Amino acid sequence: RKPVIAIDGYSSTGKSSISKIIAQELGLVHMDTGALYRGITYFALQNCLNNEGEINLSQLFARLNEIHLEFKPIDQELVLFLNGINISNEIRRNDVAANVSLIACQKEVRDCLLETQREIAKNGGVILDGRDIGTVVLPKADYKFFLTASIEERTRRRFLELQSLGIETDENAVMRNLINRDKIDSEREVAPLRKASDAILIDNTHLSKKETIALILSQIDD
Ligand code: C5P
Repeated sequence: RKPVIAIDGYSSTGKSSISKIIAQELGLVHMDTGALYRGITYFALQNCLNNEGEINLSQLFARLNEIHLEFKPIDQELVLFLNGINISNEIRRNDVAANVSLIACQKEVRDCLLETQREIAKNGGVILDGRDIGTVVLPKADYKFFLTASIEERTRRRFLELQSLGIETDENAVMRNLINRDKIDSEREVAPLRKASDAILIDNTHLSKKETIALILSQIDD
């Protein structure tokens, strides 16, 4: 049976891109669980705003059953579709980033995504990255890692990523968003961002992506 791997950690520590490469290396399926929370946030911004332009949570909860999120492979990439529409670029937008942690605090939202995440892992051979994979979603995962890095380094990485996507922003705004999300994610009541006691901690401030991947692979026996 192929392993179940949980990768958690702070925003912009490279969780998703690292998980993607490890999945290719070990022949696993990779799920970026942050994209699911971003997908629901995108839906809320499109469909559930009040007159002040804020998300109306009770309206969102009532419509959660209309949201069908699905990852489909396109050109070797898993692309997120919301009710049949490719939203992989939209979920990186600043308005989604600014609202996603509020949405991710809600028990209704987390419960709604729990089954999707567990279902994909039930036969093994997967790597899931997120905030609560090792603690809540897959507490029995075969391997757990928790990634962290300095806020300056994480800001630099996210800024470059947004630039490469053509999304306009500045480094101060990126840093504020990361600090704010980490704070909300760590302090929320449901499934807070936390290192599982049995997860291996990796601070990759001074490690390249390649080095982080090598470190993780060195812990996994094939
Ligand atoms: O990983 P990414 O930065 O795309 O995640 C966006 C947001 O989704 C996080 O800031 C967090 O609020 C939420 N999230 C979560 N639990 C996960 C994955 C993401 O609460 N497993």
